[in-house]
Amino acid sequence: MHVKRDDLIHPELTGNKWRKLKYNLLQAKRENKETLLTFGGAYSNHIHAVASAGKLLGFKTIGVIRGERAPILSPTLEYVQSCGMSLHFVTRQDYRKKSELDFIKGLKNKLGDFYNIPEGGTNDLAIKGVQEIIDELDEAVPERDYVCTACGTGGTVAGLIKGENLGRSKQNAKTLGFPVLKNADWMYGDVLGLIKESEVKNWSLVLDYHFGGYAKYNKTLIDFIHDFKREFSIQLEPIYTAKLFYGIFDLVDKDFFPKGSTIVAIHTGGLQGLKGIKELAKSNDDNE
Ligand SMILES: *Cc1c(COP(=O)(O)O)cnc(C)c1O
Repeated sequence: MHVKRDDLIHPELTGNKWRKLKYNLLQAKRENKETLLTFGGAYSNHIHAVASAGKLLGFKTIGVIRGERAPILSPTLEYVQSCGMSLHFVTRQDYRKKSELDFIKGLKNKLGDFYNIPEGGTNDLAIKGVQEIIDELDEAVPERDYVCTACGTGGTVAGLIKGENLGRSKQNAKTLGFPVLKNADWMYGDVLGLIKESEVKNWSLVLDYHFGGYAKYNKTLIDFIHDFKREFSIQLEPIYTAKLFYGIFDLVDKDFFPKGSTIVAIHTGGLQGLKGIKELAKSNDDNE
C-alpha cells in the first residue's frame, strides 16, 4: 500500500482542502474579489483552510457558521479569528438556505461583495484541483489498482474519479470512497452530479466504516490511530483519515482486494483539527 501524503502540503493549508481551494482562489483573484465567504460548522477543516488561505494570500475572509455562537469558541474558530476571519453565526434553519440565491443576496447586502465558496469547498473548480492528485500519482505510483479516500461531501472522491477516468491518466484504477457519515447512500447521487459522467463505472463507496456517524468515534479507532503512528510514523485523526485507513486494513483482512493489488490511500490532512478533538468528544452539538 502507498500513502499519498497530502497532509504534508502546508502546516495550515493542507490536504484536500488546499486542493479544492486552489482554482477557487485563482478565480477569486481573476474576478478581483477582495473577500472570500464560505460556510461551515464550528470544527470545519474547510473553514480553517479558507481562513489560512485568506491570511497567506491577502483576502479578507468571512465564515458563515452553523448554529449560535458558543460562549467558548472551538479551537478552529479561535484559530480562524486569529487569521482575521470575521464570523457570522446563523441559525441551523438559515444555514440550510446556504445555496439559495436570495439568501446569498441577503448576505451580500449585509456584508458587502464576496467570492462565494460553498460548504466543504466542493464545486467544479474544486474537482479540477483534486484531479491534480491523480497527475501526481501518475508519476509516483504509475501502476496502481485502487485509489482510496475518506469522504464528507464527496467532492474529493469525485475529483479522483474524474482524474482516473477522464484525465490524462491511462491507469483507470478503481476509486473507493469511504464516507465518514452514517447512511451516506445519497453520496452516490452527489458524486454523479459532480463528475457528470454516468458511464464511468469503476468506482464505489464503502459505507461500513463511519463509526456511528460524522465526528463519532470509539476506543477501537483511537487505539488504531496510536498503533498506526507507532508502526508507520504517520499521524491520523479520528474524523476522516483514521476511518479510511481502518477500513482499508479491515478490507485487506477480509480479502476484499485481489492478491497483489496495489492500493493508494490519500492522506487528506485534517491534522490541525486534532486540537478540537477533546471538545468534540464532549459535545454532540456538531454531530449530524
Ligand atoms: C473535508 C475532508 C475530507 C472530505 O472531503 P470531501 O471532499 O468533502 O468529501 C476528507 N479528509 C479530510 C481530512 C477532510 O478535511
